[in-house]
Amino acid sequence: MSRSLLALCAALAVASAPAASWAKAPRLTLVITIDSGGTDVFQRARPNFKSGLAQAISQGAYFPHVRYPYAETVTAAGHATLATGASPWRHGVVSNHIINRGTGKAEAIFYDPDHPPLGAPAGLNDSSPANLEAETLADRLRLSTYAHGKAISISGKARASIALAGRLGTAWWFDEETGQFVTGTWYAKEFPAWVKALNEKRPADALFAKQWTPLLPTKALAGEDDRSWETDLYALGRTFPHSVTGGLSAPGRQFYAALASTPLMDDLLVQMAKAAIDGEGLGKDDVPDLLAVSFSPIDRIYHLYGPYSWEVQDALARLDRNVGELIAAAEKAAGKGNVLVAITADHGGAALPEEWLAAGLPAARVSPARLQAGLNEELKKRFGSALCVGIEEVDVYLDDPAIAEKKLDGAAVRRAAAQWLAAQPDIAFAVARDDLYQADGLRGYLPALQRGYFPRRSGDVLMIAREYHVVSDHPTGTSHGTPYAYDALVPLVLYGRNVRPGLYQQEIHATDIAPTVAALMELAPPAMSEGVPRAEAMNGAK
Ligand SMILES: [Zn+2]
Repeated sequence: MSRSLLALCAALAVASAPAASWAKAPRLTLVITIDSGGTDVFQRARPNFKSGLAQAISQGAYFPHVRYPYAETVTAAGHATLATGASPWRHGVVSNHIINRGTGKAEAIFYDPDHPPLGAPAGLNDSSPANLEAETLADRLRLSTYAHGKAISISGKARASIALAGRLGTAWWFDEETGQFVTGTWYAKEFPAWVKALNEKRPADALFAKQWTPLLPTKALAGEDDRSWETDLYALGRTFPHSVTGGLSAPGRQFYAALASTPLMDDLLVQMAKAAIDGEGLGKDDVPDLLAVSFSPIDRIYHLYGPYSWEVQDALARLDRNVGELIAAAEKAAGKGNVLVAITADHGGAALPEEWLAAGLPAARVSPARLQAGLNEELKKRFGSALCVGIEEVDVYLDDPAIAEKKLDGAAVRRAAAQWLAAQPDIAFAVARDDLYQADGLRGYLPALQRGYFPRRSGDVLMIAREYHVVSDHPTGTSHGTPYAYDALVPLVLYGRNVRPGLYQQEIHATDIAPTVAALMELAPPAMSEGVPRAEAMNGAK
């Protein structure tokens, strides 16, 4: 085929795209996730918002109470839920890691040996959406626009970016081995020119040895900077100023990990997002495009220093500026009035258990390694063998091959394990998978566990720690992953085209986010969506 004929075909293909029917949809939709930006931290940080977050809240629709309706509130599950409108029982992304029953090893949920990363070393890491079992908003957009609408996602974490891109969008993430933005071979066989150009500038390396000092005046920061249960990791120290070298004399792996644990990484994500807007021509025509950006550092900062730290307060104030810059870039590309913005979070997070204890609350660290050892003692006594192979958040995995080999009654082993776990003082509830749909709904935990259960990937026994109890083997820092409000409630802010401004105090579900954004984009909801479009936050004009 001649060059001019090819060009003509391309022109016809564009002309036959259903551009006219999308005249009312926003040209560019930004979905912004604050990793670990739960309702508690977000509400407390509001007085410090002056830029993008302030603008979106004051001029948009604000839902402070959006609940993840399942128990294991972690990053991969949260992003998959907000992208698909479904809970893990449908989309299958039950946790960040699952224990492979064949090998007994923990694998990243988006590990796919058939589609390794492009431009980064392969491992047992996240690299493809093959395990995501439900359609995403990005997939729906690509299908509805005959692949003319673009869907790009960007994050510091592969698992967040992959969940947002789904199967038909393109996911980009920061790789902490190479210090570059990479994707997976599922999405691309080679780097497009705009990514190559950005990576060649080594923008991460340009941040080497920078200091993170507070943007906010110290009098605006609540509490103390130096608290003994904060974590000193990657040579960042526990107090301001944080020097970002990773303890190295030149950029390398530890530096990239340090960088990813500071707001400097948010600046880098904005650089990448702006490069995507230019490079992919997002918002340039009437066919809607989607740009999803998941800001990861708040989560790392939260895990190290806790939600009441100076660091989290300052990181959120800085993120407000990043969001402002991103909205301005989107409005410049698509035209003001042609942009829709949705800002939310994948989960919240617990405080440092010791600060809850100091406040007089019954808090504790719950070591999964110690629980596993205790459970194995019990199983050895009753069945002659240590049959628990691992505990991953709420999922307790048993050794199925050993149970089969010893001709044990599997259900009896699982029930014995659940009974022992439920009797432990730190555990609120435990159930064998056999009883997940039959047991009595003790204190309402069963529905949350059912919505998070996906056969083959979930554990054989499911457990929930008590309120204020943090499941972690680390002696410092904190974590998330329970159905309690501090982990399960996040905000949603909608701003821009066709949004009806207001404060909406009713509790909604995180599964409502995808169908709501889809409705505002004039798309049908993703195929497995369980939520509903929040019509109260939409303008009624046809
Ligand atoms: Zn997260």
